[in-house]
Amino acid sequence: MHKTVICPGSFDPVTLGHIDIITRASRMFDEIIVGVFVNSEKHPTFTIEERVDFLKRTVGDIPNIKVIACDGLLAECARDLGATAVVRGLRAVSDFEYEFQMALTNRKLNPELDTVFLASDSSFTYLSSSIVKNVAHHGGDITNFVPACIHDEVFNRLKTKGNK
Ligand code: ADP
Repeated sequence: MHKTVICPGSFDPVTLGHIDIITRASRMFDEIIVGVFVNSEKHPTFTIEERVDFLKRTVGDIPNIKVIACDGLLAECARDLGATAVVRGLRAVSDFEYEFQMALTNRKLNPELDTVFLASDSSFTYLSSSIVKNVAHHGGDITNFVPACIHDEVFNRLKTKGNK
């Protein structure tokens, strides 16, 4: 059976931790939709177009991965896209409570939708988009945090704009 899954997130900006989870998923499932969510609760540093573009430049060449912008409820977007599972990364136990709550909420909203948790590579457990933003804001080295092809653009934007 052809299995389509969705990897949702803010990706503000995409990190090597995100890429680790997305590429792991691409080896497990037939089709991966990376859904970049608008997320009105957060105030993203990068626009939705920039976040989608960073991801396309990083994983766009992998044949079974598609990157799209999404707005609204994940459970509804997944249904519209024909995705039967959500893939989320777990870094530490601290991620678990929120992720478990979201997984059960999404299943309530869309009973056909399951959530699959993938453990991140141990070398990325500390990594988040906020860490990248904080380090770059202070001029620190983010070479080991973000994909090489977007490094300069991300670094220059964060350093000059001073966004957090
Ligand atoms: P959200 O705002 O929805 O939490 P994020 O962009 O922060 O979105 O994260 C998207 C997904 O990537 C989530 O499943 C998150 O747990 C996972 N993720 C983020 N950073 C890492 C990391 N360093 N290692 C593994 N998974 C990660």
